[in-house]
Amino acid sequence: MDSFLLIFLVLIAYVILLFVMKFTGFWEKETCETCLNSCPDCQNPMERIRRNNGNYILNNLTFHIFNYKKYRYIECGWEGLR
Ligand SMILES: [Zn+2]
Repeated sequence: MDSFLLIFLVLIAYVILLFVMKFTGFWEKETCETCLNSCPDCQNPMERIRRNNGNYILNNLTFHIFNYKKYRYIECGWEGLR
């Protein structure tokens, strides 16, 4: 198989995978009655913190489909992208 076709097929597979993840709700935000973003561990509302360069790259690599933002919950120490 020529390499151009191979790269094209990998890209198509990658985009399909991203959309499958999106529609199956993979890594979705968790919500509770009082807040739109709750900690996965303790269900308390989290605060948004600044994203670093890695987060911007991740958003660009996923074509902003997920629009990840960085969150933190101080009391239990959970921190991550949602
Ligand atoms: Zn927590």
